[in-house]
Amino acid sequence: MNHKKSWAEPYKIKMVELLKMTTEKDRKKAIREAGYNTFLLRSADVYIDLLTDSGTNAMSDGQWSAFMTGDEAYAGSKSYYNMEKAVQKYYGYKYVVPTHQGRGAENILSKILIKEGDIVPGNMYFTTTRLHQELAGGTFRDIIINEAHDPLSEHPFKGNVDLDKLDALVKQYGPSKIPYISIATNVNMAGGQPISMANLKELREYTHRHGIRIIHDMTRVAENAYFIQQREDGYHQTKIADIVKEICSLTDGATMSAKKDALVNIGGFMATNEWDVYEEARNLVVVYEGLHTYGGLAGRDMEAIAVGIPESLDDNHQHARVGQVEYLGHRMMDFGIPIVRPIGGHGIFVDAKAFLPHLTQDQFPAQCLAAEVYTDSGVRTMERGIVSAGRKPDGSHYYPNLELVRFTIPRRVYTQAHMDVVAESVANVYDRRKKIKGLKMVYEPKYLRFFQARFEKL
Ligand SMILES: *Cc1c(COP(=O)(O)O)cnc(C)c1O
Repeated sequence: MNHKKSWAEPYKIKMVELLKMTTEKDRKKAIREAGYNTFLLRSADVYIDLLTDSGTNAMSDGQWSAFMTGDEAYAGSKSYYNMEKAVQKYYGYKYVVPTHQGRGAENILSKILIKEGDIVPGNMYFTTTRLHQELAGGTFRDIIINEAHDPLSEHPFKGNVDLDKLDALVKQYGPSKIPYISIATNVNMAGGQPISMANLKELREYTHRHGIRIIHDMTRVAENAYFIQQREDGYHQTKIADIVKEICSLTDGATMSAKKDALVNIGGFMATNEWDVYEEARNLVVVYEGLHTYGGLAGRDMEAIAVGIPESLDDNHQHARVGQVEYLGHRMMDFGIPIVRPIGGHGIFVDAKAFLPHLTQDQFPAQCLAAEVYTDSGVRTMERGIVSAGRKPDGSHYYPNLELVRFTIPRRVYTQAHMDVVAESVANVYDRRKKIKGLKMVYEPKYLRFFQARFEKL
């Protein structure tokens, strides 16, 4: 019998950050003052912060020591060349333009590739990605498989593209109206769900035939590679690093938020294999971010990314990373809490429609549940439902199928005991779910409203 099944962390803790413990009375006041929007809480009032896995990573001693070697030259920083070398070596893209974070890369890439009236098909929208596509004059069209919109479907690759949906768009608009297909790995909005290598290969074959690019939102490519290694035939013995390289080789360019997979607190880049696109990006980045050898980043940030990339591709790291997410998911399922299945790569997504079936979507069930969990235990989560989905260009709400609360796990930050506290708190709220009332929106910002909208209890 083999007892060695655990995924214990491949690191030990060298420095700790002390947390403030609050009372329920403190938290009730804090969430009311925050307009029942967890984005508006002060982090000092939060005990376990699962708002996002973005920029919340714990850096390693290797990254911190590289940080000190940052070359802060305005032009031609050696740190830029270190980062460029890491992107080329581990991801395989030819040209690299640093940006302050992922959306900086999305802005530049959308401006270069999208013309007014273009269609951009993608495997589910992401908030900033779609907004930049729209601001550049394009229209996003969802081509993800139907299973991705069903929180109960156990499909192992819910990030897959439905090639029939894509083909219908290509037939309707013609390939010349489609500058690229926007492909996210480990699709955030579907709950951290992977695309399979087989599906990506089919898509590559199809897009070659029609002369359409694939642009890769590679924010969580290593987590996607982990799922391919675990679930896809032919990859069980393949290293995550090699799977990542193969995924990237099937695409023409990428945008990256290094704040996720790449284990840093800030940074991103745009990458492309096309000289012309690179030349224009190098030009545009000067307008929006900074010179093409720093793109809004300090030299030290680029050094930390250069070290974080290979660390993120380590098999043991990803096993522990996703293992911790799965642990939290199983604890919640043991309490009977409805979560998106299969468990995703970067967090647990609680199905707020199933949790609070007595609320209509206009009463913002996910927003409401996030506020309730905070009040119960000081655990901060976030809404991924109707508030995040925003409004259509014609002013009406998008009504997404998925109305979720996201419990996102920062990489290398919390322990298994923290996960127990989180699961038990959700169970507490679940026990009194029938008494929970909805919310009404009393302030709505124009762009990406979920960040700053304010609510009151009904
Ligand atoms: C976070 C994220 C982005 C945007 O990156 P930022 O660094 O937050 O600007 C884009 N796509 C996906 C899938 C993301 O998760």
